[in-house]
Order: sequence, then structure tokens, then C-alpha cells
Amino acid sequence: MADYDYDVLVIGAGPGGYVAAIRAAQLGLKTACAEGRETLGGTCLNVGCIPSKAMLHASEYYDAAANGAMAKMGIDVTPKLNLPAMHGQRLDAVKGLTGGIEFLFKKNKVDWLKGYAEFTGKDTVEVAGKTYRARNIVIATGSSVTPLPGVEVDNDGQVIVDSTGALELAKVPEHMVVIGGGVIGLELGSVWRRLGAKVTCVEFLDQILPGMDADVRKDANRIFKKQGIEFKLKTKVTKAEMQGKKAVLTLEPAAGGDAETLEADVVLVSIGRRPNTEGLGLDKAGLAVNARGQIETDHDFRTAVPGIWAIGDVIPGPMLAHKASDEGIACVENIAGQTGIVNHDVIPSVVYTMPEIAGVGLTEEQAKERLSVSGGEVKVGKFPMAGNSRAKTNHEPDGFVKVIADAKTDRVLGVWIIASVAGTMIAQAAQAMEFGATSEDIAYTCHAHPTHSEAVKEAAMAVMGKPIHI
Ligand code: FAD
Ligand code: NAD
Repeated sequence: MADYDYDVLVIGAGPGGYVAAIRAAQLGLKTACAEGRETLGGTCLNVGCIPSKAMLHASEYYDAAANGAMAKMGIDVTPKLNLPAMHGQRLDAVKGLTGGIEFLFKKNKVDWLKGYAEFTGKDTVEVAGKTYRARNIVIATGSSVTPLPGVEVDNDGQVIVDSTGALELAKVPEHMVVIGGGVIGLELGSVWRRLGAKVTCVEFLDQILPGMDADVRKDANRIFKKQGIEFKLKTKVTKAEMQGKKAVLTLEPAAGGDAETLEADVVLVSIGRRPNTEGLGLDKAGLAVNARGQIETDHDFRTAVPGIWAIGDVIPGPMLAHKASDEGIACVENIAGQTGIVNHDVIPSVVYTMPEIAGVGLTEEQAKERLSVSGGEVKVGKFPMAGNSRAKTNHEPDGFVKVIADAKTDRVLGVWIIASVAGTMIAQAAQAMEFGATSEDIAYTCHAHPTHSEAVKEAAMAVMGKPIHI
């Protein structure tokens, strides 16, 4: 039977799946994308990257007006919070962007199969009662919130919430407890702290932001504390009980010891995300998941079953929208017989707080460990944002740029930044690393003045011990 309905059928229309579907159609492949949500764009556009940034951006203005930052620049204002309007602009952003993907699907002739897809065989899936056969099936089903036993999320109740519920709170909590000092906890904790909530962050490990460079983790912790977030490190939440409209949390030291209780009117559970594979019928396709629930692929995004591919949050690696999208493009280019590659060593990550926190490549600790195997060493150059004229002028003295290079070859192995616009600054570091740059290459690249990015040049100069402005 040669009658395939599609050359490529993508399951899931997040930044992995929708980008893969559009690229497949651009390459001349007959393409469909199954999505069960009412709107396209996945976690990222509906309840993730975009709505969180809408709230972060708006609350940043409010905070600047409320905490005296605007007054410092000669603008005396007393802000009045209109939370429904703030939510309104968040919803507008989501509506505009998800609608935009629908437009792009039509423009590129990608069929949207509305409903949740389930495998019925190696090359067939069922969506809303109809069976479709495809030469290639790309699994891009993304991820969902990891539940915390004993702490039941009820987004409708608006007391114990996950990230989706925390985006939609109808009023500013008096006391918000964030469980997990990772990206979501710090971003959404910052939103509500800026709008007036007391925020306590409970983190299991001895420092926030696991996976990031140790200097960055330590300084970020100092900055967030200065902003008013209280941290309970090396602590775990073991239970939450509703008492009226409040939650009473039981906290225990991570290493064991006496429990304490903490009352909150909102609790945000943000302890990580797990891959979406439930209900997908993987067994009918002959596929299994690994110990972490992920679908394993090779470097080309092929799963163990020929014709089935996987990308994005559902496969191993950082759970980031741009990683998912790049994998989507590479995957369908491979399907089309081209050479699709993602360099997983150069994937930037950004925490969109104020200041922003960004990194790409290895941390200093990882670089030391990796080079020590062959007797090599690292060289590190650091430059404080307080020495950068633009940051200083803008009253943004917090943070630094750190460039980590191989002492022998000078090749850049990692760059870490805390700065108001770190998310924008990290792009040049990623590009330099992709091109195999040395720290000298960055140091001798002319950077416009006055820009925050000059701090990247100075940190690269510091690798050789010769920055100008410190
Ligand atoms: P998803 O975006 O999760 O999309 C998967 C889609 O598949 C979903 O729409 C789902 O409905 C659909 N689906 C699942 N199963 C089926 C099925 N059986 N049939 C049909 N459809 C199905 N990342 C960043 O890079 N930057 C950020 O600023 C950022 N902010 C975030 C903020 C929050 C609050 C959250 C929760 C996440 C954030 N992320 C961010 C992470 C980012 O959202 C994910 O890494 C990204 O969305 C993963 O893309 P994906 O395509 O793999 O999956
Ligand atoms: P995370 O993995 O970033 O952080 C979870 C934190 O919770 C960790 O620090 C972990 O040690 C801690 N933790 C785990 N169990 C705990 C417990 N029982 N008690 C206390 N602390 C506990 O996860 P997240 O913040 O939920 O985010 C999920 C994913 O979404 C991340 O992988 C991230 O990449 C992605 N995301 C990215 C962005 C961005 O790129 N700006 C924004 C939001 C989310």
C-alpha cells in the first residue's frame, strides 16, 4: 500500500512541531501537524515563554515606577496597578502570536489536524477518530509540569498553582511561596514580587539556578535577595494543606531534621517539567521511553523505529523553545535528504529577570573538569557591568560578563552574563563560539560605544589580563 496521506506528520504544534511543519512544507513535503490545544504554538506561545515575558515586561515598568528607579532619572510617578489591563495585554500577545502561526500554516499549506494524536501503528496515527498514514512522523509533544507529591495543583482555585496558574492570578498575593529556585520560580516569583507580593523561594539544593555557572548562581542569589525575595535553600516542601483560603506548607531541611510550617496565600510549584508521552500509544509504534520518560534519538533525531523522529522537550537536552525549533528544522531537513545539524554544545539559555541572566557553552566548573582529563587548563576573564559606561549611565550596575577559554588554544568554551540585556548580549557569544572563536577574536572585534556589549569585549580582553575599564 503506497497511499500515504502525508510525507510528514508532526505531532504537537509547539515551537518544535510548528517550525518543523512549516520547514517541511517549504521543502516541498506534504505536511500535517496534529495539535490538541485550541490554538497553535504549544507551551511556549500559550502558557510559557510569551505570556511570562508579557508579565515580566509590564511588571518591570511598574517596579521601576514604584521602587524609585524612574524618580532617579527625574520622572516622578506614583504607579497604580491595573491588573486586568496587564493581563489583557498578555492575552493580546498570546492571541496575536498563536493566530500568526495559524496564518503561517495556511500560507505554507500545512494541514492542522485538530485533536490529540495516538499511534495505531508504526506509520499511522489516529486524530479525532480519523486515521492518517504518513511516511515520516515527528513526535514534538513537548512537556508538562512535574507534580510534587503532597502538593496538589489546582489552578482554578488560585492558591496552589503551576506556571499556568501563576500567569493568571486575579489579584496580587500577599505572600507567595515558590517551590523551586529554577527559571520559572525566579521569573514568575519576580513578576509578583514587583507587583507587591512578599515572595519566599524554597529550593532543595544549596543554591538557585542549577546547571548555571557557580559565580552566576551566587551573584544572582545576592541580587534577588537585594530585590526582596527570601530564600530557603537546602529545604524541601513535603506537604501542603488548605486552611480556608490559605495553604500551610510543611518544610523540611533537605538533609533531614526538624520540620517547620509556612503559610502562603499562593504557592507556585515549579520543580521542573517532564516529557509528554502519555496517551501517545508509543507501544503501538514499537517505541519505549528512557528512565527519565524521554524519547531517545540519534544525532539526526531518528528514534529507534525507522520513519519516526522526535524533537524538543520530549527528547533529552535543555527544555528551551529555540532548541526545539532548531531541532525541528534540522529533523525535517534530514527527512528531506539534506544535512540537518544542531550543535548542542552552543545553545544559549536566558532567565528573563531584571537583570537578565544568560549563558552559553560550559560553566567554569565543567570546563575545568573537561580539560583536566587531558592535563589542560582554563583561562577566565571577568568584567563587571559597573565598569560599563552604558550600564552605569542607565543605573544598572549589577552583574558581570565572564568568558571562559582554553588556556592553550584560547578557544572560547563558555560565556556567562548577568546584565539588564544579557539575553541580547549572549547572541554574539553564541555566534562567536559557533564560528570557533578565540577570546582574542572577541577582544579585537570592534563593539559599538556606548553599549552593554562592550562588557563582552572587555571580559574577553580580561582573559589575557588587559581590560581597559577596571
Ligand atoms: P511544547 O511547546 O510543549 O508543545 C507541544 C505541543 O504538543 C503542545 O501544544 C501540546 O498540546 C501538543 N501535544 C501533546 N501531545 C499531543 C498529542 N498526542 N497530539 C497532538 N498534540 C499533542 N523556553 C525558552 O526558550 N524561553 C523562555 O522564555 C521560556 N519560558 C517559559 C516559561 C514558562 C512558564 C514555561 C512553562 C516554559 C518556558 N520555556 C521557555 C520552555 C518552552 O516553553 C519549551 O521548551 C518549549 O515550548 C518546548 O517546545 P516543544 O515544541 O518541544 O513542546
Ligand atoms: P528548573 O529545572 O529550572 O528548576 C526547578 C528547581 O526546583 C531546581 O532548582 C530544583 O533543584 C528545584 N526542586 C526540585 N524539586 C524540589 C523540591 N521538592 N523542593 C524544592 N525545590 C525543588 O524547572 P522549572 O523552573 O520548573 O522550569 C522547567 C523548564 O522550563 C526548565 O527546564 C526551563 O528550561 C524551562 N523554562 C525556560 C525558561 C527560559 O528559558 N527563560 C523560562 C521558564 C521555563
